[in-house]
Amino acid sequence: MKVLGIDLGGTNIAMAIVNENGEILARNKVETKVHEGFARVVERMSDAAIELIEKVNGVSKIGIGSPGSIDHENGIVRFSPNFPGWINVPLAEEIEKRTKVNVSLENDANAFVMGEKWFGKAKGYTDIIGITLGTGVGGGVITGGKLLRGHDGIGAELGHIIVDPNGYPCGCGNHGCLETMASATGISRLAKEWKERYPESTIKNFSAKEVMDAARMGDQLGVKVLEIVSQSLGTALGSLIHIFNPQIIVIGGGVSRAGDILLSNVKKYTRENVMRSFWNTYEIVLSDLVDDAGIFGAASIGFEEIES
Ligand SMILES: [Zn+2]
Repeated sequence: MKVLGIDLGGTNIAMAIVNENGEILARNKVETKVHEGFARVVERMSDAAIELIEKVNGVSKIGIGSPGSIDHENGIVRFSPNFPGWINVPLAEEIEKRTKVNVSLENDANAFVMGEKWFGKAKGYTDIIGITLGTGVGGGVITGGKLLRGHDGIGAELGHIIVDPNGYPCGCGNHGCLETMASATGISRLAKEWKERYPESTIKNFSAKEVMDAARMGDQLGVKVLEIVSQSLGTALGSLIHIFNPQIIVIGGGVSRAGDILLSNVKKYTRENVMRSFWNTYEIVLSDLVDDAGIFGAASIGFEEIES
């Protein structure tokens, strides 16, 4: 079985043909150039896909992971903040027409959690929560082996769980969403906000990576921000554990590269919010698919459909 997984991002479109063992057989990457409009993006994506499909025989399906509100059933991007002007565009149909291969389209965070089930640390599990800490915070839930989509297919917006009703304004219109605290953008803002209290801190450019690296070195500002971020994640994960009773929670996205220092703190604060009967029912881990998580996620959407 071979599936072409396409990770549609705001800057680049990364794609690879993956087999069911999680081996990458061929890969390709093109710039998204979203300013050139939907038709040109479709063209570039299809050309790159066709090149791969001709190189490797037997691709039976294409899976696409896209940010935004996705109508999986009809293969439509309803709206995506990174792609201005893409309102109700039939992405799956357009790619299918050009490549002559059946296409499944899914939200990228949903694809992430499915990728973990097929190829990552959640392999063999049926009840999984995936959370991606990137520029924003995305999430996906698999319950009883099935992706939780909700009635309109737009559910599991885990980044917009409110962890502080009096918190920062979020891009979604609410205040204090998890995304305002635990995204790379949120971490950077938190560090700037607290810097006056920690004049001895060595943090200079306030990127999320720098803040997390500083925390690892014991920088007090870094440690303070790490604690706030981990507390927010612990608040959200505590509730999610009570609702979904997951076996495993996988944390991915660029911020997860902070590694053990983030993981140990998130575990600690999550446990504080979880009632005793749930204490030994779940694991929290960091994704190890990292750079290819988007491709594996997209491919897994294809595999999931072939199997069902
Ligand atoms: Zn929000």
